Amino acid sequence: MSLADLMRKGSLRALATVTVATVATEEQEMASTVAEVATVAVAKSPDAKAANDPAPDLDRWCWPNSDAMNTVEIDTFTLRVVLFTERGLMPAGAEALAEKLMKRDREGDDRRTCIECVNLGGRAGSSRCSAWRSAGLGVQAIPSEWVTLPQRCAAFVDRRKGGAA
Ligand code: SF4
Repeated sequence: MSLADLMRKGSLRALATVTVATVATEEQEMASTVAEVATVAVAKSPDAKAANDPAPDLDRWCWPNSDAMNTVEIDTFTLRVVLFTERGLMPAGAEALAEKLMKRDREGDDRRTCIECVNLGGRAGSSRCSAWRSAGLGVQAIPSEWVTLPQRCAAFVDRRKGGAA
């Protein structure tokens, strides 16, 4: 009896996957048997998914499992770049700040910047805070260097959660 005959009868299913896979590369008709064995082998591992999983986790190799940005971070980064350029930063500066804030978020730093806040108004170079009294400021005007400075402000409202500025 040949090895192929044994496999068709299912008597080799208890053997190591490597043995079956070697045969499968030589005989196309063995492909379904190999796939069946591979699926069973992967299913025994609680954390792993089969390579042919129809709904793979796209963030599997991203933060916090690596330094690569995950889906939520990419969406947040993109929204911030758009917001920051709308608020007067040059594209390169907006991207640099968005990346800095992504690292801040990963580190759990609770400081925020005025440029993220729904209360920031005005134009680049003449920014104003609409909640300046609650923020403890003496005037509405926000100096340019404060706009992107991480700080703690009791009146901060995240632009992404608080609606349009
Ligand atoms: S409320 Fe605070 S964080 Fe927001 S713009 Fe005013 S000073 Fe900046």
